[in-house]
Amino acid sequence: MRVIGSKRMLSKKLRVGLGIDVHAFSSPDAGRALVIGGVNIPYDRGLAGHSDADVLIHAIMDALLSAARLPGAEDIGAVFPDTDPDFKDADSFILLQRVNILLLEAGFEVIDIDCVVVAQAPRLSPYREQMRENVAAALGIAVEQIGIKATTSEHLGFEGRGEGISAYSTVLLGKL
Ligand SMILES: [Zn+2]
Repeated sequence: MRVIGSKRMLSKKLRVGLGIDVHAFSSPDAGRALVIGGVNIPYDRGLAGHSDADVLIHAIMDALLSAARLPGAEDIGAVFPDTDPDFKDADSFILLQRVNILLLEAGFEVIDIDCVVVAQAPRLSPYREQMRENVAAALGIAVEQIGIKATTSEHLGFEGRGEGISAYSTVLLGKL
């Protein structure tokens, strides 16, 4: 039986990865900034967390590591343990660039990324393009290679009650 295209697909190893992250909102008194996709979003509270709590960047890193499946670096916790004081209030873009270097060293390139951020409030869609530009610049890819959507959860669940924000990401990697 002739299998069309199978040889070509095998010569380029493709990997998919799925990443997810969730952060609760901190109280407004905590004075934390709301940072999503590297954009400072005007809101009365930020997300609680060890680093800057950039939920979208964390989901993308989780997906990248999940797809690469590097020994000892299977998820964010393995690469950046939250017991390490270096990562307290860390800029997630510095962490993202470190993940990207790990991948490049292992011979992977990012082919495509798609993401969804689930938040009842604030409205995130006005910041989407800036987020895409930030992620593309950090990973050295084109803006067209990253999709970011924002959605609400119709007042259902923790996102809908305004208790926190979740983010999901899928990535497609190619092995060079
Ligand atoms: Zn996180």
